[in-house]
Amino acid sequence: MDGTSSTDVAVVGAGAAGLYAALVAAAEGASVALVSRSPLAETASYWAQGGIAAAIAEGDSPERHAEDTIAAGRDSARESAVRVLCEESPARVRDLQELGVRFDADRAGNLALGLEGGHSERRVVHAGGAATGRRITRTLSALAATDERITVLEPVAATALATGDDGSCAGLTVRRRGGEAVALRARAVILATGGMAALWRRTTNPRGAVGAGLSLASDAGALLADLEFMQFHPTALRIEGPRDGFLITEAVRGEGALLYDSQGERFVDELAPRDEVALAIHTELERTGEPAVWLDMRGVEVERFPNIAAALADVGLDPARDLLPVAPAAHYTMGGVATDLDGRSNVAGLYAVGEAACTGLHGANRLASNSLAECLVFGRRAALAACDGPAASAAAAAPQADPRVAAPPGDDTRAALWLHAGLRREAEGLAELAGDPYPLARLIGGACLAREESRGAHQRTDHPAVDPALDGMHTLVGKDGAPAFERWR
Ligand SMILES: Cc1cc2nc3c(=O)[nH]c(=O)nc-3n(C[C@H](O)[C@H](O)[C@H](O)COP(=O)(O)OP(=O)(O)OC[C@H]3O[C@@H](n4cnc5c(N)ncnc54)[C@H](O)[C@@H]3O)c2cc1C
Repeated sequence: MDGTSSTDVAVVGAGAAGLYAALVAAAEGASVALVSRSPLAETASYWAQGGIAAAIAEGDSPERHAEDTIAAGRDSARESAVRVLCEESPARVRDLQELGVRFDADRAGNLALGLEGGHSERRVVHAGGAATGRRITRTLSALAATDERITVLEPVAATALATGDDGSCAGLTVRRRGGEAVALRARAVILATGGMAALWRRTTNPRGAVGAGLSLASDAGALLADLEFMQFHPTALRIEGPRDGFLITEAVRGEGALLYDSQGERFVDELAPRDEVALAIHTELERTGEPAVWLDMRGVEVERFPNIAAALADVGLDPARDLLPVAPAAHYTMGGVATDLDGRSNVAGLYAVGEAACTGLHGANRLASNSLAECLVFGRRAALAACDGPAASAAAAAPQADPRVAAPPGDDTRAALWLHAGLRREAEGLAELAGDPYPLARLIGGACLAREESRGAHQRTDHPAVDPALDGMHTLVGKDGAPAFERWR
């Protein structure tokens, strides 16, 4: 990699969305550069536990899956995106099987389907108990590494997008750690850089999930959407040390795990959608001043979740015997680069998929296990659209010597996001956040301020009710502008 290189499609990010998009584009005959900053084991995809939601069970249907997704999204999910996800997810599960992913089966040899909060049916396909992400990404990554049309660039960071005089995207600048900046010309760039939950102080995400793709896209003129909708997972381990924030999948509650307050009483329906359970726990913690509530897995077949049992053993906890201290943590970015149903942003030649994108699918609250499905369904659609798209602008993709996106923020910004854009927000704190030195934090603060209501993951103490006028409305924000609301069909 030196000077200037060129490729048909540049995919930035090698989690589930990027790997799958790269493989689909390569299968279409495109040359693909797959750029990844961190190793596979540091992607959110690798960490995914519960599984992939797909209406496969007898008696289930894409329509029922869609109804559950829309209900969880709190009247804010984009129905066209929901339909696409729910109709195409079963076929993508079959694709993975054909590519060699072995999902867990029941005694009769059929796919074993898990139940998670907000789903009215068992429809979560999983592998290795709660090691679904690891199994999928290992298979996809091995295929990408041996595909002659794919050049894997790792560990290499995308540091700027190159736009032509007409504003379209003509490639990007990449840089190996300590190396020179290199221009990579591409007909299309697909951002699959994951979410931004690690901008919050307490998170379930890998450290690198700081929304780099959102910053790159915004800098290149793309609109970002729904930045106020950060999902907090209800049951992240609450302990001192590096395992703090370790996620305990919702699937354990699907198998009967219960939540108790400090008096040993149940206080919430454990299988309600995530926003509801997370808020109930937060309220309980505010009321008691305790750091955690208690998750009881003692009635659950622990052997089904070997990686959770192993992680807990690391910190001296035995789920068959001990109650587990848990509290909410920032988990999933419902917002992202605003795209259509084929991953297109408003910048020609620039696409976004997976957690970096916002199709509007999740509305104000993602339904459990819909995001791996999203990576596959929209990863494929974007790859096909990118291969079909027009040639890039003739403008040279000159390397940018200096990164155009700010380095990941310091602890002050992470603390400010946790404090001011946490499970409950109000105008005064959000106004402070909107003046944060970190550009993406400023945009998040602005989007939270603009949405003067409480909906799903966005709870305002100063606007505690849903505003029906905002049903189906998404916030859109450019690099320097004020957020505007738009209705998406
Ligand atoms: C603990 C945990 C458990 C989860 N469980 C589930 C589950 O069971 N089911 C489900 O549906 N969802 C689950 N999720 C959510 C789901 O895993 C993610 O939404 C999804 O995997 C995101 O995939 P992605 O490909 O978009 O991004 P990621 O998997 O996060 O990959 C991002 C990639 O982008 C790269 N990157 C970032 N910035 C740059 C840059 N500037 N230059 C180059 N490369 C860059 C990274 O190195 C990485 O390769 C879970 C998430 C977590 C954290």
